[in-house]
Parts: sequence; C-alpha cells; structure tokens
Amino acid sequence: MAVIKKPVIAGNWKMHKTIAEARELAASVARGFPEVSEAALILIPPFTAIQEVKRTVSGTDIAVGAQDLFWEEKGAFTGEISPLQLKEAGCDFVIIGHSERRQFFGETDETVRKKVLAALNHELTPIVCIGETLEEREKGQTLNRIQTQLENSLFALDASSFSRVVLAYEPIWAIGTGLNATPEQAEEVQAFIRSLIASRYGKTLADYAIILYGGSVKPNNALSLAREKDVDGFLVGGASLEAESFLGIAREALRAVRD
Ligand code: PEP
Repeated sequence: MAVIKKPVIAGNWKMHKTIAEARELAASVARGFPEVSEAALILIPPFTAIQEVKRTVSGTDIAVGAQDLFWEEKGAFTGEISPLQLKEAGCDFVIIGHSERRQFFGETDETVRKKVLAALNHELTPIVCIGETLEEREKGQTLNRIQTQLENSLFALDASSFSRVVLAYEPIWAIGTGLNATPEQAEEVQAFIRSLIASRYGKTLADYAIILYGGSVKPNNALSLAREKDVDGFLVGGASLEAESFLGIAREALRAVRD
C-alpha cells in the first residue's frame, strides 16, 4: 500500500521579524492559504511573535511552532523557555537540534534527546534536525553521522513516541548558503533514514514517518526535490520570510504529489 501524506512545509523565521512584521507576514500567508490548503503549513516565528502569529492565523489550518525549548517546565534557567510556555502561547510544533543551535549554542545529541522527551510530554510535535557538515560529506561520513545522530537522540524512544516525531534532514553545508542538495543527494540520505527507522521500529512506522528536507529550498528547486520518494516536505529558512516564496514552495510540493 502506498502511503499518501500531506506535504508539510515549515517556515523557520529564525531571528527575523518584529511582532508587527510577523503579523503582516502571517496575514499574507493566511490570505494565500486556501490555494495550498492540501499542504500542512507551519509558521515558526521567534518567541516574541508566537502569540501574535497564532492569533493572526486563527480560523485557518495553519499551525504555529517554536524554534527551540528547554526541557524543564519551570525554574531558575535564565533565558530559557519551557514547553508549558510554548503550549500556552499557541505552539503545536517545536524545532529541536537545528544546526545553528548545535553550532553556536552547544546543542548536542544528548540535549536534543532531553528536549524531544520534554516536547512529547507536553503534546508538542518535535521537528528534529539532523545533518552532516561539508567536511563529513567530503570524507564520506554522511551516513555514519546521520545514523549516530538518530541513535543517540531518538532511537531510545518507544514506537508510539517515535511515531509523533517529525524529522528534518538538513545538510549543514546547504543551510542559508544557496547550495541545495541535489534531489538525488537528498533522496539517498532520506531513504537511508527511513531504512534505519524500519530496522528499529518496523516498516509500517517507517512508511508513515515524516521526513522533511531543509537547505536553501526555493520555489524553483522545490518541485524536483519534492518528487523524490522519501521527501515528505520542507523545512524552509530564507524563503519563508516572504509569503509569496513560502506559498510558492507549498504549491510546488503539491504539484509533485498530483503529478
Ligand atoms: C533552516 O534554517 O532550517 C534552513 C533550511 O534555512 P535555508 O532555507 O535558508 O537554507
């Protein structure tokens, strides 16, 4: 049986947009949403704008997420934000282990593991990012790196918890660089990820797992990437900062499903 999934298009706004700018962008996405409503759209603004974005898209099926969380519910953790606070602000999703957090803020597979558990315990869907550096790719270590990340941060979960995780394969060399992986490169790694999930949790769970690709996705490269069997949607950075390009990516992903 072929598994039909809605393409998932998540926009990571990173440290961009004031509250007013976020409202405007969310309103533009919401206006264009009816045309791409067969896709699942997730807007992921900075913490300060989450509530406003949630309010702006209310009444649509557009979901809202956060870019990170801490694993404790509350306490003396200056500067951190808890799963309870994210839920209250209107989040249903949270990015965990983005390469920028790993690179600049000391995120490790172990902190990712703890954050994933915290998210799941509070009914937040984690979007867990994994990916290799350019050096690892050039040394032929890509698949090893991916396997280690999955084993260390996710594979201790039981099957029912794992089935609630969304994965994002994001080759670090492709993020914000304009260098996207070719469809073949993305497919090779994403098929490998699915095969590891199948070995750990069985084929059915692997078939239903959502594996996004991220790394310089734009409307003009989204179609060929989305046509790959194991690409279930996109985590988009730069191109999510304009409604037209974000919606354009959703349109292309839907075209790939219809073709
Ligand atoms: C990202 O930040 O997750 C990302 C994929 O960024 P960009 O699309 O800008 O490469």
